Amino acid sequence: MKIGVLALQGDFIEHVHALRRVGAEAREVRLPDQLEALDGLIIPGGESTTIGKLASDFELLEPLRAFGRQKAIWGTCAGAIFLAKDVRREQPLLELMDITVARNAFGRQVNSFEVDLNIPALGAVDPRGTPYHAIFIRAPLIESVQKDAEILATLPDGRIVAARQGCWLATVFHPELTLDDRFHQYFVEMSRSTRNL
Ligand code: GLN
Repeated sequence: MKIGVLALQGDFIEHVHALRRVGAEAREVRLPDQLEALDGLIIPGGESTTIGKLASDFELLEPLRAFGRQKAIWGTCAGAIFLAKDVRREQPLLELMDITVARNAFGRQVNSFEVDLNIPALGAVDPRGTPYHAIFIRAPLIESVQKDAEILATLPDGRIVAARQGCWLATVFHPELTLDDRFHQYFVEMSRSTRNL
């Protein structure tokens, strides 16, 4: 499986390493023609306004939308913001996924935190069901999901931190910053099943 990682800004290299650990072929994407022949794409964490502005300057917005209409895309943190239809402010977005996202919902950088989550969907790649250690860095929240978008994970108080809608996945935490590769395995499987549709 060939998975691209949007490499305009943010922690793309950690995603490249995680993809290689799970046996996928990882490619950095900076130009539209680098999307060709990929089975899926990860949009990393970083600064969503910067990612959006660079994607617009490099004429990637439309090619990324066209890619997402056919293939799997996973956004982590800033990437989840960029994938959303609504963030209730003006900034360049892909506007693909039917989720409403609130940026910086936990406060400033110093309010970053880590927490163990129970994520039943990961049972698809590992039936042991071990809690998932999630790292939140100036994270957004998924305020609500619409249409057929499903909630995959919440904080203990019910706030939404991961969602899926068909071939689109959004996590507001950073699986690429741990050595627990279940989310990368999950996304490779999502990309495989999208390719086989
Ligand atoms: N705060 C960033 C934003 O709003 C996201 C932070 C991250 O990706 N870790 O774009």
